[in-house]
Amino acid sequence: MKHLLKISSGKNADERIEPYRLQLWLRGFCYERSTNAWVKPVGNIGAKRNIRYAKERGLRYELLDKNVKRNTSYKAKWVRENPPFLGMYLCTYCGRLVLAKNITVDHIVSVGQASTSLRYASSGKNVNDIENLCGACSNCNNIKEAKGGLWVLRGKIYRHRSMRILRFLFRLCIVAALVYGAIRLWDSYPDFGFLSFLHLGDISWIS
Ligand SMILES: [Zn+2]
Repeated sequence: MKHLLKISSGKNADERIEPYRLQLWLRGFCYERSTNAWVKPVGNIGAKRNIRYAKERGLRYELLDKNVKRNTSYKAKWVRENPPFLGMYLCTYCGRLVLAKNITVDHIVSVGQASTSLRYASSGKNVNDIENLCGACSNCNNIKEAKGGLWVLRGKIYRHRSMRILRFLFRLCIVAALVYGAIRLWDSYPDFGFLSFLHLGDISWIS
């Protein structure tokens, strides 16, 4: 018995769990009154079979394994391992500078995603491991929620401090190049020359 599988009603009115009570009971599930859900310890094969059963009926399913559950200490652990620099962090997702007091700690593979993924639950990883945590601004954290795909990829790359600093410097270079280019362009019009007063070759205007 490797996993604890919980099945409950889906989002829509025709995805209620009540019509399936007898079937779930026959499948060996136990009723949990407090959450109106059915729970069963299952192995990998049993989990696959019962997840398919729930999916086909639009029911909600969730693995209750410890390694796919949010714990209470992940934030403190992340902050301990990632002290701020000059009271600032760089957001993992958007790269903005964030005050240390405003940083939020995000699960790169979200808890919701992990708890419905048999593959993740069987992988031996834990969602609260430091490799799955990153610092994010509250804006990114809100937008990301349980999204996967590119968000997860970005999280995995930029959770490394060196990658965040590289991205920051790269952007800084682009901004500097743009500003420099704009000044040169401006300066190429003699009448409006922004830097023309710095051309000290001709100082006849002094007298
Ligand atoms: Zn951000």
